[in-house]
Amino acid sequence: MNESDSERIAHMLKSANYKSAPNIDGADLIVVNMCSVRQSAVNRVYGLNKKLVNLKKNNPKLKTILTGCVLNSDKQKMKKIFDQIVNIQNIDKLINAHQVNKSYLSCPALFSSSFSAYVPIMTGCNNFCSYCVVPYARGREYSRPSSEIISEIQGIIKKGYLEIILLGQNVNSYKDKNGQHFPELLKTIHNIPGDFWISFLTSHPKDFSDELIEVMANSPKICPYLHLAVQSGNNQILKKMNRNYTVEQYQKIISKVRKKIPQINISTDIIVGFPGETKKQFANTKKLMRKIKFDMAYIAQYSPRPNNVSFKEKKERALVLNKILKKTALQNNQKYIGRKVEALVITPSQAKTKSFKKIRLTKPAVLGTFISCQITDAQAWRLIGHPLDATQNDNINSDQQNAKRDNIPV
Ligand code: SF4
Repeated sequence: MNESDSERIAHMLKSANYKSAPNIDGADLIVVNMCSVRQSAVNRVYGLNKKLVNLKKNNPKLKTILTGCVLNSDKQKMKKIFDQIVNIQNIDKLINAHQVNKSYLSCPALFSSSFSAYVPIMTGCNNFCSYCVVPYARGREYSRPSSEIISEIQGIIKKGYLEIILLGQNVNSYKDKNGQHFPELLKTIHNIPGDFWISFLTSHPKDFSDELIEVMANSPKICPYLHLAVQSGNNQILKKMNRNYTVEQYQKIISKVRKKIPQINISTDIIVGFPGETKKQFANTKKLMRKIKFDMAYIAQYSPRPNNVSFKEKKERALVLNKILKKTALQNNQKYIGRKVEALVITPSQAKTKSFKKIRLTKPAVLGTFISCQITDAQAWRLIGHPLDATQNDNINSDQQNAKRDNIPV
């Protein structure tokens, strides 16, 4: 989301006739787009102090702005480092490059990629998970009008983009002023003519509907990839986190998704060492991880604030989960060996499958193109694949057929 916001800020600056400086030393304006999700990210912004002081000495005209997710508790101290602190919602008014009364999300973006485009559809959150700063830093949910999203995507597709990544803190609760909800929006995007992939980040289990699963299963342009944060495998901890679902409900969603979309690649977020998490409660998370067999998990150790789970214990718990993940991710990836898959080239030596598996290419391919690829080997975090010539493409099995053949458990 922050990367996407930065792309929109970059466009606003360009429209206001700013040019990008070759390096930070030559800048007259520096906009820092901050993330508060982890303390380490906040500390990095504090760490800019010395650099900015030196830059100002050399260039008294330099203006510095801090925006993004900034907590009130950080604002006071940050005031000493930056000339101005601006809510991301008001950044357009500050830069003065866009019509007033429109969300900054409505501004065009200066995409950093020539084939992959982030499109925010909503921002903010109403969920107040007990560990999360988003509702305080970004405010309550706001959904962009669907007509505006559609026309932006139509323009992007016309420019030749191959991948549309829809963004929001909780895309499943998207609902615009006319009542259009997320599955309907997805269907409309899917109906835009062209050869492109659609994916979305991120989803909350409590809002993950059967209708959404149906739309995903029946829309070939939607990538068979789902990031669904579980956070813990223990119901008491989930309650303390204010997540509003149980482990059983989470598992039910995963089995429905796997039944309808056997080729799905599933990733998750997990927090270890949530205050009060006992060894027994942690054991439930291990159990869940072994059961679900995630393809990827982003495992965070709960904040540096002191609690009854020691730093050492949190580190150990994260290592244990990583070990389980490495095993299940490798097993899942090994099922790809021997398949021919469609892939998007993201660097000359790297591509990704429609289900978001990274592939190291055995020979260079043209950046930003769809290719066919023969998977020859698999590691836990990536596949190894050989790009095929057009003449070798005839026998590409669909992901669906491949998944059926491999009898992926649901
Ligand atoms: S749903 Fe996500 S963004 Fe919203 S409060 Fe919970 S963790 Fe934060």
